[in-house]
Amino acid sequence: MTETATDLDTFRTETRAWLEANCPPQMRTPASSDADICWGGKRFTYQSEAQRLWLQRMGERGWTVPTWPRPYGGGGLTHEEAAILREEMARLHCRVPLQSFGIWMLGPALLKHGSEAQKRHYLPQIARGEIRWCQGYSEPNAGSDLASLATKAELEDDHFLVSGQKIWTSYADEADWMFCLVRTDASKKHTGISFILIDMTTPGVSTRPIKLISGKSPFCETFFDNVKVPIGNLVGELNQGWTIAKYLLTHEREMIGAIGERSAPPPVGRSAVEGIGKDQSGRLDDPVLRAEIARFEIDEAAFRAWLTLVGEQARAGEAHPAISSALKYYGAELNKRRWELMIAAGGADALEWEGTHSNEGAAARAWLRTKGNSIEGGTSEVQLNVVAKRILGLPGA
Ligand SMILES: Cc1cc2nc3c(=O)[nH]c(=O)nc-3n(C[C@H](O)[C@H](O)[C@H](O)COP(=O)(O)OP(=O)(O)OC[C@H]3O[C@@H](n4cnc5c(N)ncnc54)[C@H](O)[C@@H]3O)c2cc1C
Repeated sequence: MTETATDLDTFRTETRAWLEANCPPQMRTPASSDADICWGGKRFTYQSEAQRLWLQRMGERGWTVPTWPRPYGGGGLTHEEAAILREEMARLHCRVPLQSFGIWMLGPALLKHGSEAQKRHYLPQIARGEIRWCQGYSEPNAGSDLASLATKAELEDDHFLVSGQKIWTSYADEADWMFCLVRTDASKKHTGISFILIDMTTPGVSTRPIKLISGKSPFCETFFDNVKVPIGNLVGELNQGWTIAKYLLTHEREMIGAIGERSAPPPVGRSAVEGIGKDQSGRLDDPVLRAEIARFEIDEAAFRAWLTLVGEQARAGEAHPAISSALKYYGAELNKRRWELMIAAGGADALEWEGTHSNEGAAARAWLRTKGNSIEGGTSEVQLNVVAKRILGLPGA
């Protein structure tokens, strides 16, 4: 059913009123650090009652996943209504109530490839932030060449027996469940892979954190020692997991590409003025940095317009199937440029690593974290290969 302008106006008025009444004041300010971001899940410690309440209220309404169907915990909104919700949240500076691999990656894959029982079981829990997920794709010898993965899952009666190792598993030590690629037929490469869901509390699963240059340990090595996984946790057909894996990756790449937009970072120009000051004519008092920031802000505006265009093309079924690689590449480079400029604008202060003045080195750590943007979800070199071959039609090597 198409909506009239009046329907949408009514929806906007009601949404505005609901947000005014239900978004706690503390949730109308940007998150001040990583610890302030809500990931949900059974092991998550809420930073405040406001954070817990905001997730609960948005989850009950299905507005953590506004366009998912209602029977699966979504809001059942049209794309026009979801755009209005985003605008109204931005107007009030409401935080996104939940960051979630379940929403960004597994949810879309389950909606397309999951059984009805899997959709009804997992999707509402993802929408309400009750399960936190991690992604078990990469292995020590399978990164860019992911289909070389060797973690073995042997089918025995009504379960798989899983053995092997994953690496770079973001938040494996905090997640409740993992969506995982396993080898179920060693005689074939791409058609010997299956996509399964593993409860991280199953005996035989263990994790070991890996430290990053930002000083944090957001990811782990994950080990499987004869882990029993019920056959009902297989998504799609046996040995057909590669199709699901690739579909999920397009969503992951779009999510990483849009990272700068989604995380609502402080505007670079305003931060630079705060750090450096203005000249007599009211402009940033550093002509070289000023020109670089202007170039960045123009590129960022163009990228935002491109994201909107691709979103519309995708809804009309007209987006290029490999466009997520181009978005991922450009968005990752843009986010790295943003934080290079933030550090340049902040001077020596921006490099402070500890202490309350810098919020425990929040800017320096965010800058170092962006280095991983061009690796996670597939490296920049690999995305450029995809763009060259599949979008530009250039011959392969
Ligand atoms: C912050 C972060 C979070 C991550 N989170 C997760 C996670 O949650 N779950 C998960 O499964 N994985 C995760 N990863 C792993 C990530 O997906 C891999 O690191 C990535 O796919 C690259 O694989 P690799 O590290 O094995 O590098 P390799 O594949 O060994 O690549 C090494 C270098 O060779 C280049 N290269 C490789 N092949 C080609 C080619 N064909 N053409 C040109 N150059 C090439 C690469 O670009 C790279 O520079 C994460 C990584 C990072 C940095």
